[in-house]
Amino acid sequence: MREDTKEIQTAGTAQGKPALQAGTPARAKSASRSGTPAQGKSVPRVEGSSQGKPASQAGTAAQVRTASGAAGAGDREKRRSGKVAEETEKPVGAAVGRRRKKAAPPEEAIVLDRVVKTYQMGAPALNGISLKVRRGEFVFIVGDSGSGKSTLIKLLLRELLPTEGNITVNGTNVVRLRRRKIPKFRRGIGVVFQDFRLLKDRNVYDNVAFAQLVIQAKARDIRRNVPMMLSLVGLAGKYKAKPKQLSGGEQQRVALARALVNNPPILLADEPTGNLDPKNSWEIMKLLEEINEKGTTVLVVTHNREIVNAMKKRVITMKKGVIVSDEEQGAYIDED
Ligand code: ADP
Ligand code: MG
Repeated sequence: MREDTKEIQTAGTAQGKPALQAGTPARAKSASRSGTPAQGKSVPRVEGSSQGKPASQAGTAAQVRTASGAAGAGDREKRRSGKVAEETEKPVGAAVGRRRKKAAPPEEAIVLDRVVKTYQMGAPALNGISLKVRRGEFVFIVGDSGSGKSTLIKLLLRELLPTEGNITVNGTNVVRLRRRKIPKFRRGIGVVFQDFRLLKDRNVYDNVAFAQLVIQAKARDIRRNVPMMLSLVGLAGKYKAKPKQLSGGEQQRVALARALVNNPPILLADEPTGNLDPKNSWEIMKLLEEINEKGTTVLVVTHNREIVNAMKKRVITMKKGVIVSDEEQGAYIDED
């Protein structure tokens, strides 16, 4: 694989089909708003873009989640007494039946437990980070340069292993993850960076399609999904352009389409607006918010004080490798 394609994160749905468009915006939105974590507190969640699920099923997932607790026992009873056939007319019951085969997705998208990361030289880059991000949350990570933000992102992607502590992402224990399972694990995480990391010699369409090719999506699905994602990021008209013919904001939107085309449940963004002017920065952040409202868990590292203060999201502030503040609807804390 080419050097500049290494960072492409892909997400595997069986058919390579994004649930973003077909998802349940209204329900996903209300869930993401209701879930203001008091960490660890259990609130019923919907599955706007649950991992590995084709878009067509995403709509029933919410019903399943809310129904499963109450209906589970009765369901089993019916099954035993041979009343299962009746359920074919009841979408909720029927969906519960299908879901029983799979483990429920984890409540938390990301869990870090007393994570320490020491590079070969110097003080630890991360020095005891504990953190939970629930599915469907939108979180900003802010902090001075060198406070450990990018190290945190690399640990979540399993580009690095922690020196101490545990990390779980999408229900996978990253520390115990076998090397050969890393590619599949990374399909559950979309990622964008400050420097876009597009394939320079390929056009917009091919840059996005590439992520689908990596997961061996069907040609038919690629032909549908890529234009859909380009429309979502407002670039449908520029599918033939090469990256150098685009503005920075447009390039980042291509990167975002590529990060999302395989429908990952988590999106990580490391200073996605670092190279953009204020107008384009706002557009990218609004897109990230929209994506989050459709069900994707979004974690954004940023220095953009104005946007952080305006968006009223959860803000985690890091300093010298530790979390110094974690606020719902937080603000950018002034450095002293
Ligand atoms: P941030 O993204 O918040 O600017 P980083 O996670 O990049 O911070 O860096 C945190 C600390 O770890 C810094 O002191 C940095 O110099 C150090 N660091 C980062 N990457 C490496 C590396 N590959 N080798 C050694 N030290 C590193
Ligand atoms: Mg950084």
